[in-house]
Amino acid sequence: MNDDYLDIRDSMIKLCEQFPNEYWREKDKTGGYPDEFIKMLNDEGFLSVLIPEEYGGAGLGIEAAGAILEEISRSGGHPGAFHAQMYTMGTVLRHGSERQKQQYLPKIASGELRLQAFGVTEPVAGTDTLSIRTFAEKKGGKYIINGQKVWISRAEHSDLLLLLARTTPKDQVERKTDGLSVFLINMRDAAGNGLTIKPIEAMMNHHATELFFNDLEIPADSLIGEEGKGFNYILDGMNAERILISYECIGDCKFFIDRATQYACDREVFGRPIGQNQGVQFPIARNYTEMRAAELMTHKAAELFDAGKKCGEEANIAKLLASEASWKAGDTCLQTHGGYGMAKEFDIGRKLRETRLYQVAPISTNLILSFIGQHVLQMPRSF
Ligand SMILES: Cc1cc2nc3c(=O)[nH]c(=O)nc-3n(C[C@H](O)[C@H](O)[C@H](O)COP(=O)(O)OP(=O)(O)OC[C@H]3O[C@@H](n4cnc5c(N)ncnc54)[C@H](O)[C@@H]3O)c2cc1C
Repeated sequence: MNDDYLDIRDSMIKLCEQFPNEYWREKDKTGGYPDEFIKMLNDEGFLSVLIPEEYGGAGLGIEAAGAILEEISRSGGHPGAFHAQMYTMGTVLRHGSERQKQQYLPKIASGELRLQAFGVTEPVAGTDTLSIRTFAEKKGGKYIINGQKVWISRAEHSDLLLLLARTTPKDQVERKTDGLSVFLINMRDAAGNGLTIKPIEAMMNHHATELFFNDLEIPADSLIGEEGKGFNYILDGMNAERILISYECIGDCKFFIDRATQYACDREVFGRPIGQNQGVQFPIARNYTEMRAAELMTHKAAELFDAGKKCGEEANIAKLLASEASWKAGDTCLQTHGGYGMAKEFDIGRKLRETRLYQVAPISTNLILSFIGQHVLQMPRSF
């Protein structure tokens, strides 16, 4: 362990013991939401670590939040059900008005309100975020929203939605990053009054939904920051999201490596532990080297983020390395277990499905490579 959050990690390890793998397996089987686990996290103050102390949180940084998510993943849990509260927070903290912070942050910190939904992706625009069409039109003291979002996680379990929408048509802006705005929407008021939420069944228990906006009226003061500047506001949050997902993938790597190592030492075939065979041992050792490299990059990205420095390159590289390392470690873990790797009670298949998402969302590997190719290495733009 090479960071300063051993106390947080120790507490998380103990708390996670109260929620053994059977708990997460059952949630996966039924598509259930881990309300009990989230209540525990809230009660212990771990979900509000990023909220400043004056608003009821712990006032810690992304390294602390990452340590929490990593330990949950390592224990066999699935932070996908609640991690958004951590990475969406930055947009509200940095760009929200004092009134918005006073109104929402103490209630989020206490668990009274959940900020778990982040609405960016749309069916037509896909990865091309600047082409989103959901439109918020200002009329008097209100915005009227029309459009559609897809793959919005946890919308049925969140009180608040952080929404990215167009406020000026794309063909009327000078720079294509202009004309997008961020809104903090009370979904309890909106649902059934212009907002329809439709669940999507996914291969992992991620509580994904489609959102349909049909003349949804929201108060004009739901706008975060300045109108038209929203894309820049969410970029910070996106780096935070990539770093936190990297921590989760590192936790997944450790889950798989712990399990594979243990099984390789315990399981005897041909009169000796299977791990004595280098054909079994080396892939696990290689997974460990890949995990450590990804872990170093994740910690570097988090350190830069917490220092308020530029971290786009590091956050993207960390997410790419960590999500690939966790998938590979999961594959090795499954192979090490032979036939038992396929048994649901071993949780390897569930964790593999959960960790596979992170090569696609919140940003796919190709888009990270194009960021590195174009913005870091200055090669020609492809789009
Ligand atoms: C379970 C789940 C939960 C999610 N939760 C949320 C959420 O809470 N909020 C939210 O806003 N979104 C969410 N998403 C959406 C997610 O961020 C997108 O699925 C992801 O960004 C990819 O967009 P897309 O699915 O439209 O793929 P597309 O844009 O259609 O891309 C398809 C494939 O083509 C590749 N591709 C596209 N263009 C290029 C190019 N120019 N060069 C090279 N390759 C390219 C992509 O890399 C990808 O592999 C979630 C997705 C899933 C599956």
